[in-house]
Amino acid sequence: MGTYQRLPVAFESGSGAWLYDQQGNKYLDALGGIAVCALGHAHPDVAQALADQAGKLIHTSNLYEIPLQESLARELCALSGFSKAFFNNSGAEANETAIKICRKYAHANGMDDPVIVVMNGSFHGRTLATLTATGNDKHKAGFSPLPAGFHHVPYNDISALEALQNGPLQVAAVMLEPVLGEGGIVVPDKGFLQQVGALCQRNDWLMVVDEVQTGMCRTGKWFAFQHENVRPDVMTLAKSLANGVPIGACLAGDKAAAPMTPGSHGSTFGGNPLAARAALAVIHFMKANQLDRRAAELGGAMLDQLRRNLQGVSGVAEVRGKGLMLGIELEKDCGELVSKALDQHLLINVTAGKVVRLLPPLIISDGEAEQIVTTVCTLIKNYLAG
Ligand code: PLP
Repeated sequence: MGTYQRLPVAFESGSGAWLYDQQGNKYLDALGGIAVCALGHAHPDVAQALADQAGKLIHTSNLYEIPLQESLARELCALSGFSKAFFNNSGAEANETAIKICRKYAHANGMDDPVIVVMNGSFHGRTLATLTATGNDKHKAGFSPLPAGFHHVPYNDISALEALQNGPLQVAAVMLEPVLGEGGIVVPDKGFLQQVGALCQRNDWLMVVDEVQTGMCRTGKWFAFQHENVRPDVMTLAKSLANGVPIGACLAGDKAAAPMTPGSHGSTFGGNPLAARAALAVIHFMKANQLDRRAAELGGAMLDQLRRNLQGVSGVAEVRGKGLMLGIELEKDCGELVSKALDQHLLINVTAGKVVRLLPPLIISDGEAEQIVTTVCTLIKNYLAG
């Protein structure tokens, strides 16, 4: 439908961090399908789980019990500390679920005009409610009328949130990414999430973390909120949850989930046996191989190498990141670096206009990580020099 500006390459197969095009050329993937393929491409455990499950049962319906979905819910709750799970098929849908939970909770607690506080620079999806929550007007242009009930504040600014305590808005919840992904790999100050959590608790606002991009070991913890001493009420996941098989999840604690009763939400495909089985295979591999630790260590090393390599280079504004979620901000727009990298058979992304974004599979080797760093730094230096 003309909604994508595609690069002139088609991949036919993959293996680990490598993709192969129709002519058999190989490319190093430093983007992992935008934080989706955490286990790399054609992972044997996921392939085996899918093949086995496809031969048994792909779909029944949420009208019936789905033991694999229940196992997945138990795994995710054990890893995160939440107690309830709802499954759907994408990040935007998971966030829609979170938004519905916040509104249901607010109405159950006597609010008639509840507002969800969201952040400038955030990204929550492309459905009408999630693009309204998104803190970037570019995505909203031409789609009015937009749903009401969202209020934007600056990210990483606790005083902006505190100011809402005695204001006229009926605040039901605060929804935020623990690290801005599409917004340019913006890592908030240490303690910010904890402060948000405390503020929410004091005011009985729900705290919702959108971990669609940061979740599943990406930042060096299973979930990025776990870097701080905070207990959110709701968390959303998608992207790498099943390594590319579409699935989204919304987890919640008892308090937030209590008003969600039979009939209040649903999904035809959500959490079907095939997707749940793939997600279980991902979790088992991540656990067995401690990919949270691996992402922390390798991400830290890559961040150091990038900083060292780009230190003092004129035109580089900042190098930042958490785990294997890395961003290099330049002082000028650099979208064309994506095709320059493709020419070098490296897949990267540029977000927020001038931030080179790296989200490689979590299974990359030290050597592959080094190759990414070296190629990216050379590309950036040549670009800035030219
Ligand atoms: N939330 C965050 C933080 C995201 O990064 C994205 C996608 O980039 C979404 C939500 C939307 O996910 P999906 O494209 O699966 O709907």
